Order: sequence, then structure tokens, then C-alpha cells
Amino acid sequence: MLQQEDEEVARRLFQDMDLEGSIDYRSTAFAGRDFGGLHASPPFAVVRPSGSRDISSVIRFALKSPNLTVAARGNGHSINGQAMANRGLVIDMKRPSDAVIDFVRSDAGFAVDVGGGALWEDVLTRCVSEFGFSPRSWTDYLGLTVGGTLSNAGVSGQTFRYGPQTSNVTELEVVTGTGDTVICSDGQNSELFFSVLGGLGQFGIITRARVLVQPAPNMVRWIRVVYSEFDEFTRDAESLITRPERESFDYVEGFAFVNSDDPVNGWPSVLLNPDQLWDTGFMIRSASPVLYCLEVALHYNKGDCSSTVDTRVERLLGRLRFMEDTLFQVDLNYIDFLLRVKEAEKQAKANGIWDAPHPWLNLFVSKTSIEDFDRLVFKEILKDGIGGPMLVYPISRSKWDERTSVVLPDGEIFYIVALLRFTNPYQKSPSVRDLVAQNHEIIEACVRNGLDFKLYLPHYNTEEGWKQHFGDRWSWFEEMKSKYDPMAILAPGQKIFTRNPSCGIN
Ligand SMILES: Cc1cc2nc3c(=O)[nH]c(=O)nc-3n(C[C@H](O)[C@H](O)[C@H](O)COP(=O)(O)OP(=O)(O)OC[C@H]3O[C@@H](n4cnc5c(N)ncnc54)[C@H](O)[C@@H]3O)c2cc1C
Repeated sequence: MLQQEDEEVARRLFQDMDLEGSIDYRSTAFAGRDFGGLHASPPFAVVRPSGSRDISSVIRFALKSPNLTVAARGNGHSINGQAMANRGLVIDMKRPSDAVIDFVRSDAGFAVDVGGGALWEDVLTRCVSEFGFSPRSWTDYLGLTVGGTLSNAGVSGQTFRYGPQTSNVTELEVVTGTGDTVICSDGQNSELFFSVLGGLGQFGIITRARVLVQPAPNMVRWIRVVYSEFDEFTRDAESLITRPERESFDYVEGFAFVNSDDPVNGWPSVLLNPDQLWDTGFMIRSASPVLYCLEVALHYNKGDCSSTVDTRVERLLGRLRFMEDTLFQVDLNYIDFLLRVKEAEKQAKANGIWDAPHPWLNLFVSKTSIEDFDRLVFKEILKDGIGGPMLVYPISRSKWDERTSVVLPDGEIFYIVALLRFTNPYQKSPSVRDLVAQNHEIIEACVRNGLDFKLYLPHYNTEEGWKQHFGDRWSWFEEMKSKYDPMAILAPGQKIFTRNPSCGIN
């Protein structure tokens, strides 16, 4: 909260910015928090831009100051303060009205132009209702902005087929750290295009993205099956992601769960609706503390005969070796499937879990290390669960464009591991500090045992940590920073670079 004199000074200063949008010095606390709930860094002010011109004005204003920083804030769903700017300026990018600006036919196929601050859930509903088309690659939860996920990668059960969201955009409009508004793509200003994708907000603020779309199906058959052995789970999951398109599902994910009847961590977390029953006998059949659920989905259209869909599903499942009697399936509308986490969000909001801290840890673990990871982490450190999903599923590296800023472990196949911890403020559970310590323990165990992995949605406090993360890409990353944000104004919450204190461009 600013003192009154501070506010006067701030008002005078910001008059210089000549904004069409607005600036708020008072109600800024929300921008000093995020979904993680682990850090708090209130900004000096929050800007609500009316468009790219305002964003450019804010950056140019910050350039003239000795130490102001600027953070684009999408929906603030980061875990470690990545969208914050301590005593700096936060640009509130979220703009539901920007969900779809235009439908375009490009050389690469059909696409939609969407604002950087649009929420993916709005992009979905508008694309489907207005055009009957839908983006190809998603995240599990869609209350995230286009600019926020493109700054990381954007992964989900479609990534094995289409690559991450960063592989599904053909053009961006970006306001760089020098205040310039630049259109970039593979063929035009390509260096900026690829550095911004997965670039952790370091090189520019995405104000528009051209996202590839395809005809949307009407319906989805959503299926879960269970494995007691990790090697059988991985063999089937890897087989599904490497088969030709016609011989596989449209969505492939998976998760580990505790072999118990605990409602959150155990067997009940596998069921897709309350009508489904689970058999206590399942638990006894395996001595393993942890079991594995393969989650797949098949698209179809309302006109498709149900027996045809059943036959296709049976044929695809017939080649898998899951535990007998552990097949759970439901049919639902395509939009409801993609918005499936929204229902969980509603419940978690109602019982206070959504707003409690979330010490999440996300990793990409190479196929060569995933069995060791299972042994050391799932079966040992996390054998009692984490109070939320422990996602683990494979994806193919060849679907990722290596020219983006995202860094991956070695090998063609690697696994996404997402430890999505939820803490219940009303129940006796481990302290947040203990959970953060457990995350460190997991990372240390991976390092000590020589596992090949990279952090997804990375977070380091030291330059050494970032250098190791980027490996031989570090010098390129630094070079791009000096080119597109030479004063290190942007995304200070990532803690990669320190604001250059000398007075910059006028
Ligand atoms: C409930 C939940 C579910 C999730 N599920 C998935 C999932 O399935 N798959 C997945 O890949 N990720 C998932 N994530 C992680 C999510 O993709 C990232 O945390 C993402 O950054 C959040 O988007 P946001 O709009 O809230 O970004 P913010 O947290 O607001 O910002 C993230 C970073 O991007 C920068 N940034 C924001 N907007 C822009 C912009 N327009 N231009 C440039 N930089 C910008 C910020 O400065 C910051 O550094 C999930 C997160 C949550 C909380």
C-alpha cells in the first residue's frame, strides 16, 4: 500500500506515460501474490493497458528510470512469483474479450488470432461456437492466459501428437524490452519468435498469437485403466504415443496413485464419476505402495454410431495390458472434457483448498531415467501421496521445436512429471515448509542418482542454477536478452537477470 505522498509522486510520474488504459496504485495486492502462495512481492502499480501501444509506453517509461521493472501478469497461476515485480510495474494482461480476434487461413493451415491476455477457456468456447474449430494442443486446466503458457510451453495429453502449445503458433505480436512492437514468425524476425516461445517472459510481452486450429469434434470417450507394474504402464503409454495416428487415442496422459482407499491419494481418485465402483480386492492384488493409471481419450462425433465407437475403443484397448476389471469410461461433450478441471476448481474454491499454498514441482524426466525416478520418488519419497495428482506420462521430443527457449532432457521420449500438491487449510497436514523441503529432497535425489531431467516451469534463485538449467543454450539465451531486453526490465520475478541500473534508451 502506498503512502499518500508516494501516491502523489506516482501520479505525476505516470502522467508521462500517456496511457489509454488505466493505472492503479491502490488495489495492487493481488498482483503481489500468485497461485503458488509461497511468495509475496507487491508492485508499485498495476497497469491495465488498452493495447500494445500502452504496453510499449510503460516499457519506454521504465527504460528512462534507473531501476523500474515490468512484469506481464497473465492469470497469476505461477508458483514461485514469476509474474511479480517487486516495487515495479505489473501489466495486468488478462482480457477475456481478446479470446478470438480473427479466423485466418495460413500456409500452415487454419488458425485464429488471439490476444496474449486471453484465457484459453474463452478461446475454446469462442472458437468452437463461432467457427466449429478448436486449437489442437492444450493444457489440462484452461484458466491460464495464452501469453502465460506460451512463455513456458503448454503441455497436456495432446502434446504427444501436436507438440506443446509453443509448437502450435505460427506468428506472434510482441512488445520487446526496448518498447518496440514486432510481428514475428518462423519466416520474419524468427530469432525473436523462437526466443519468446518458452522464453519465460524475458524478451518481450506477447500481445497477440496466431494459434493453429482444426475442426472440433463433438464428443469424447474418456477412459482410465490401471497398472500395478510401472514397466507395463510405461510400455503401453509409450506404445500409444508412437503409433500412427489412426491406431491411437487422441489424448494420452497418466498418473501415479497410492495403493489405498484414501479419497484423495488412493483408488477413489481413479474413478471418473460417482456411479463407478471400485473393488477393494484391487488393492490386495498388488503389494506395490503405488499404482499407475493410464488416462486416454478418443474424439468422435454425435453422428457416429455408438457401436462403432465401442469397437474402436475395444480395438485400441485390446493391445494394452492393464489390470483386469480396471476399465473406467465416460462419454462427454468435447468442451466439457477440455474444461474438466473447472469442476474440481469450483469444489476446491468452495472448501478453501484452491486459495491455500501450492508448492508444486514439475519436471521433464528422460525415458532413460524414468524407472529410477519411479523407484526413488514415487515408491519411496511420495509413497503416501501428495494430497493431489502425481501426473506422469510420455511425450515425443520430435514434436518440439528445438529452436524455442524451452530446454528438454536428452532422448526422443521423455516424461512429464507434475506433482500437483494441494494443502488443506482445515485439516492437519504437513506444513508448506515441509512440502517445499520434500521438493528439494526429490531434486537432490535426482541429481545424486544421475537422473537426466529438467525443471518445467523452472525456478532458481542463483545464476548458477539458471546456467545449469539452460546448459549449452545459456550463452544464446543471454545474447537474446541483451538484444531484446538489454536493460533487463522484463519478468523480474523469474530471477534470471538483474535490472541493469544505468539509465537506458530515451
Ligand atoms: C491449476 C493449474 C493448472 C495448470 N495446468 C497446466 C498444464 O496442464 N500444462 C501446462 O503446461 N501448464 C500448466 N500449468 C502451469 C501454467 O501453464 C503456468 O503457470 C503459466 O505460466 C500460467 O499462466 P498465467 O497466465 O497464469 O501466467 P502468469 O503466472 O501470470 O505468468 C507466467 C510468466 O509468464 C509471463 N507472462 C505472462 N503473460 C505474458 C505475456 N503475454 N507475454 C510474455 N510473458 C508473459 C509472466 O511475466 C511470468 O513470468 C498449470 C497451472 C495451474 C495453476
